[in-house]
Amino acid sequence: MGPHGTKLTVVPVTANRNASRQTVIDVVVAVANVFVTAVTAAANVATGARVRRDRHLTIICEGGWLSDRGLSNVFTTGNTINVKSGYEDTFRGDPLLLEHEWRHSVQWALLGPVRFIPLYAVSYFGSKRISGTQAWNVFEWTAGFSDGGYDDCAGLGKRNETPAPATQAATM
Ligand SMILES: [Zn+2]
Repeated sequence: MGPHGTKLTVVPVTANRNASRQTVIDVVVAVANVFVTAVTAAANVATGARVRRDRHLTIICEGGWLSDRGLSNVFTTGNTINVKSGYEDTFRGDPLLLEHEWRHSVQWALLGPVRFIPLYAVSYFGSKRISGTQAWNVFEWTAGFSDGGYDDCAGLGKRNETPAPATQAATM
């Protein structure tokens, strides 16, 4: 209640501001990534991927040459999210995983492909070498371990593979 007994209506205004700020970030990231997004999506489209749009202006490519060659079932190149054949339904049913992958889109936008690819590779393989997990991979760490299907803290970046045994690394 306000000083004169009138109810304050701050919450909806704040919510609207947050919503519009999120859209601006989405657009800035999408514009920064447009070249990598277009090239990698085109490579998938030309090789039979199913393509759809999703939140944060992402392009989801299900199957296709690039998607099926990832080290994991899902990986991100710019704003293109590459989903391996056979993993489509799992990805569609996991909204937090899209948020995780989009945080990688932000990393692509901040670094650009010339810096992202070698730095990610060093972080990925370095972490594997040090710990056998992604615990020391700063890119996965900052994209959110639990949203990406990793165990937080206690598991030190190991894949959360309960209850079904995974046949390979789930996500990147
Ligand atoms: Zn990831």
